[in-house]
Amino acid sequence: MLESSLVKYGDEIISCSIGEPLQVVFDYDKVWAYYQNLDEKNPALLHFVHVHPSGCLGYSAMDLNCIKGFNIAFNFPVFFSIVCFENNDLNSLEYKIATYQYDAEAIKMQKLGAWPDPKFRIDLLLMSTDLSTLKLLSYCPQSVIEIVRNI
Ligand SMILES: [Zn+2]
Repeated sequence: MLESSLVKYGDEIISCSIGEPLQVVFDYDKVWAYYQNLDEKNPALLHFVHVHPSGCLGYSAMDLNCIKGFNIAFNFPVFFSIVCFENNDLNSLEYKIATYQYDAEAIKMQKLGAWPDPKFRIDLLLMSTDLSTLKLLSYCPQSVIEIVRNI
């Protein structure tokens, strides 16, 4: 599988990226341009989402560096979620999600909950379009990925 990602602003997908194995890839330029062009910027609506293999809801050192970089660039702590699909079946969107924020003052990563923890922020749950996009980009056959990369 590939660790694909997408970025949401509110209900809208503003960018998605096909992952590379063991990497965290976001289209930073696109997200930055989108956010800077908003008339009213709401940090609470910006949400970075990244797929990990099943069972790996924890963040990696690379994820942490990535989040720290986004926080510095945007000047607020971004929401960063990790999604794990339960199986390889493209028809199934069963998943788990954990959401994090890096707290610069405490110098630590805060886990904001994992669905279905009661404290999980319901506004960070993904819609079926988000899940389908992430599942396809992460689990469709390599031959299809190559076609998409070349479009
Ligand atoms: Zn990661």
